[in-house]
Amino acid sequence: MNPIQKLTDYFAEFPGIGPRQARRFVYYLLTRNQNHIDEIAKLMGTLKSQVRICTSCYRFFQSENRDATLCDICSSRNRDNALLVIVSRDVDLENIERAHVHSGKYFVLGGGVPILEKEPEKRIRSNELLRTVQTRAEKGELKEIILALNATPEGENTAEYVESLLKPITSSSNIKVSHLGRGISTGTELEYSDADTIKNALNNRN
Ligand SMILES: [Zn+2]
Repeated sequence: MNPIQKLTDYFAEFPGIGPRQARRFVYYLLTRNQNHIDEIAKLMGTLKSQVRICTSCYRFFQSENRDATLCDICSSRNRDNALLVIVSRDVDLENIERAHVHSGKYFVLGGGVPILEKEPEKRIRSNELLRTVQTRAEKGELKEIILALNATPEGENTAEYVESLLKPITSSSNIKVSHLGRGISTGTELEYSDADTIKNALNNRN
């Protein structure tokens, strides 16, 4: 197979990228000089070894310290342990951080639960979530869990699943579970919401 087609096929596997866009990426790369392409290839080559996953919130993070297991948010003393925001993906967390409206902690599910999914526990980090919430509940520090999921059918389904999954812990430990309020309109993905919208949705959570 020729390299143009091969690379097109790889790019077409990226989320949200179709074959036509994938091919445009390849032709774009062909217009750049060799150094630029080498730099991209090098970065891709080191991505997995230099980026780790946080053992508390499960977001990807980069650290100079090879032994670091917690990201900067989880290891910060200035973050409120009483509040835990649950998001689907890293991009959602980053978007909320950019809005500067949440001073607590996070948990990244690593995906969503599609409607009618027979094995929802396999689509997100169910066991890890249970462990994190259980540990926090035992310490008596967790007061509220905010489900910051997309206002899409899959997002709502995910919220329902997560809520029922955590129910035994949240009921027995008296932890409030809230959802993003109005502001994020139906059909909207958190990733594409601006800072003001996120701020309103968090302030009006219910
Ligand atoms: Zn973390």
